[in-house]
Amino acid sequence: MGSLYDFHIHTHYLRCANETMTVPAIARRCEALGLQTIAITDHLNGPEYLDHHLLIKDDLAALDTSLEVVFGVEVNVTDPATGAVSISPADIERAGFEIVIGGVHSCYYDRPDRRAIIELQQRLMLQVIANPLVDVLVHPWWFPGREMAPGGPMEWFQDLSELPDDYPRELGEAAVAHNTAIEANGSAIWTNAHYSQAFKDEYADYLAAIADTGARISIASDAHDIGHLPSVHLVEEVLAQRGVSGDRLWRPRAM
Ligand SMILES: [Zn+2]
Ligand SMILES: [Zn+2]
Repeated sequence: MGSLYDFHIHTHYLRCANETMTVPAIARRCEALGLQTIAITDHLNGPEYLDHHLLIKDDLAALDTSLEVVFGVEVNVTDPATGAVSISPADIERAGFEIVIGGVHSCYYDRPDRRAIIELQQRLMLQVIANPLVDVLVHPWWFPGREMAPGGPMEWFQDLSELPDDYPRELGEAAVAHNTAIEANGSAIWTNAHYSQAFKDEYADYLAAIADTGARISIASDAHDIGHLPSVHLVEEVLAQRGVSGDRLWRPRAM
């Protein structure tokens, strides 16, 4: 039936997404895709970027659409020692963000020290999940293209075989305990050429194992170009094949 949701969308304002990602253009495309509820969640890597988010908020106030549109933000881990993220309660208050999504954006290693990298990622993800400011942990096990590329520290990461078997359960149980959702991300994983089809198949099983703990899964395109938005339908299909649909999917509390 296709996805009704996309809870991770960027705009042109922060210059990570391109010029096709204006708020009205996003709304038109999401309406055409048959979506019901979406979240605009641009990057906030420091408080100096809050003014850009206020421009997004102005666009949302002026928007005429049949969609439910949530004003959110994506934050980053800023300190791998503590798992702290790039937002404060004062930032949330000032901008009026309705949801905060966030996660890890690096392996933090220059060399392919596999065991240490995997253990650090899991610890940081658990710390983000436990952060009361964060509603959704974004793209587990996504790494930047420069880290996945030949010669990079994550070049070897072509399947999930090196993950300890209890990792998805540990993540899911933490998500349940802290009422944090776990993301299923189209652009970061399923349409990302750095990941093999074998990885994507294992990754779908990994998310299903997380959902089996009772954790909610958040469907996301992570679109940085208007052409990335349809990936939510692929994500919905992959999850539905594994029985993850309906009330196993996350929706923002206010909706
Ligand atoms: Zn991200
Ligand atoms: Zn993103």
